[in-house]
Amino acid sequence: MTADGTDSLDTPVLWLDEIRSDDIGSVGGKGASLGEMTAAGLPVPPGFVVTAGTYRAFIEETGIDEELFDAVEIDSDDSEALSGAEAKAEELILETEIPGSVREDILAAYDDLDDGEAFVAVRSSATAEDLPSASFAGQQETFLNITRDDLIERIKQCWASLFTQRAIYYRNEQGFDHDIVDIAVVVQRMVEADKSGVMFTSHPSTGKPKIIIEAAWGLGEAVVSGAVSPDNYVIDRETGETVEATVADKKLMMLKDEETGETVERAVPDDKRNARVLADEELAKLVELGERAETHYDEPQDVEWAIVGDEVFMLQSRPITTISEESAAEAAANGEGGGDLILNGLGASPGIASGPVRIVRKLDQLDKVGEGDIIVTEMTTPDMVPAMKRASGIITDEGGMTSHAAIVARELGAPAVVGAGSATEQLEDGRIVTIDGDKGSVTEGAVEPDEQTDSVDDVRPQNPVKPMTATEVKVNVSIPEAAERAAATGADGVGLLRMEHMILSTNKTPERYIEDHGEDAYVEEIVDGVRGVADEFYPRPVRVRTLDAPTDEFRQMEGGENEPHEHNPMLGYRGIRRSLDRLELFGYELEAFRRLFEMGYDNVEIMFPLVNDAEDVIRARDLMESAGIDPDRRNWGVMIETPAAALGVEAMAEAGIDFASFGTNDLTQYTLAVDRNNEHVADRFDELHPAVLRLIGDTIQTCREHDVATSICGQAGSKPDMVRFLVTEGVSSISANIDAVRDVQHEVKRKEQKLLLDSVR
Ligand code: PEP
Ligand code: MG
Repeated sequence: MTADGTDSLDTPVLWLDEIRSDDIGSVGGKGASLGEMTAAGLPVPPGFVVTAGTYRAFIEETGIDEELFDAVEIDSDDSEALSGAEAKAEELILETEIPGSVREDILAAYDDLDDGEAFVAVRSSATAEDLPSASFAGQQETFLNITRDDLIERIKQCWASLFTQRAIYYRNEQGFDHDIVDIAVVVQRMVEADKSGVMFTSHPSTGKPKIIIEAAWGLGEAVVSGAVSPDNYVIDRETGETVEATVADKKLMMLKDEETGETVERAVPDDKRNARVLADEELAKLVELGERAETHYDEPQDVEWAIVGDEVFMLQSRPITTISEESAAEAAANGEGGGDLILNGLGASPGIASGPVRIVRKLDQLDKVGEGDIIVTEMTTPDMVPAMKRASGIITDEGGMTSHAAIVARELGAPAVVGAGSATEQLEDGRIVTIDGDKGSVTEGAVEPDEQTDSVDDVRPQNPVKPMTATEVKVNVSIPEAAERAAATGADGVGLLRMEHMILSTNKTPERYIEDHGEDAYVEEIVDGVRGVADEFYPRPVRVRTLDAPTDEFRQMEGGENEPHEHNPMLGYRGIRRSLDRLELFGYELEAFRRLFEMGYDNVEIMFPLVNDAEDVIRARDLMESAGIDPDRRNWGVMIETPAAALGVEAMAEAGIDFASFGTNDLTQYTLAVDRNNEHVADRFDELHPAVLRLIGDTIQTCREHDVATSICGQAGSKPDMVRFLVTEGVSSISANIDAVRDVQHEVKRKEQKLLLDSVR
């Protein structure tokens, strides 16, 4: 018998058309969703799921279960034991033969797909996805273009992903039994699409009965990742007429390389570049399928589709859950939900959420935060991220718009009110409240679920159409878990990946981490964190910033007792100052970059924070060179965060920087002497202050003269006024928050067009 109570060796595999959503316990989240779509009569590429029960039966029937669970019962603070446990578990799983009959059943199922000739995708589908962290359930492995020869091996690799060091560590730390997670594996025929794209079955921001379809040549990755600007079709659902067809100049397409089987990027042949991708009949077919999906799920859907010859496939369908500012504003104005105002703070992450309060005072109380709760805490810390993911909203006593809570909440898509003063005193556990992350209010009682913002999966920005802009529009990422959402915005790359969140989420200072796990594990922790994002965006550039956490953030971590006490951490030991003082630690960061470059991640760029002058830059550059990184071959640059840096950028350009990026969170606080985390002066924190704008404008001017690219990665890059200013000044790129990317793209385009028009008028 298996953990879910089924005797799965009778049915090692389930075909997608046999699966319903309540089979989630044996087929995992991914498998259940594909099964549900198949059941709805949608043309999903055929496939099957090797059930969680099969994995369970494999370890039990071959008798490796006890050895496996014993092997991972270790002191997870002992880094050698941890890597030994991962290796042992992997060896046990990969080197133990799958019972013959199961193997045959899996291969027989494969043979039923295209007479054994199919290229398939093999994906893990963990059955514990609702548990606190994906790392708990194991790495989410995906292998593409797999053939019969490698199938069994890949399935076993998916199983082994339950026992990565990170997953073992996490379960041990949280006191979870290793025995309670299972893993299913989805095996599905790959679709070699001639054309593909996405479809919104109702207008995603207005909900009007208009179907919007984006389409490009080749495989869907090009559209979903935003690498290509697709054709855009708008169809009136009532009349079935195409009311708008915008044909884009499609330069790139993704294809399967016939020789290697890998997905490659190619130039679109000249005769297709400006040709319309979808004929009327194809639009009609898509519209019909879209309507079928919407009827089945009873709500508007965001669908990924592909066409091969004259066959249409649907690859994924999920509800459109965009934030409706109107309904948020209305609900708040009407005081819905009982509405007596309890507290006010800063609206730091938009949307409305209701739920029971959970006061979190100490780290060990994080378990008490359940799905849909409202976390109330003095200030969030990086290791609260798993709990923040479960929560429907976040309230903090302290902090401003650029505090940890604000940044992470925006990336998770969870409404947040920060700097609310005494929320942890005024609220109590279990009290039902509603927070409005636009207005910054906390009110009594709950609002109806349809007025609340659906949290984590609000992937799609409000306007589905990505305009082409000359100024690049990128996205900021702080937590690697947000990379997928960030990539789905269609941004031109990552303008800021903050490294400190990767380290601090281990709840240890770098020094303590190294003491406990060794230098190599530290370097690998950075490599893994960056890789997750660099893969998601490849070949779009990802600008990774070296460590920049103030001592008060480090102090909350294990090992933080050794941090110096500073009266003014924001003016203190952080950014490049600390790196240039702790050369050994800085060296590990540079070593991580060197390894990433060696692995072929040529889309990774290096950015140094809080530099003041060319001397800082030259020292950092020389250290980079000594670490085996050639500054002439790699893209590297600095953040402009102090007035000194802005005024001294010319000498930095001469030192060889490729780019300068405005960190307006800091540049504003240092120019105006307004602590960015102090709610008492939050109303004075003005990134559009003339002094700040002048520093920015002059820096752009100097950089243009020296052929240095400019960008912004502070919070202000998401503000329309700042966007218009920067485009007028000639900035090279703008990096915005995930939820703002699409609006920024439109703002940039409008401004660029206006400038062009003005120049010819
Ligand atoms: C900034 O200062 O604007 C910035 C982006 O860096 P951080 O918010 O991490 O200090
Ligand atoms: Mg900064």
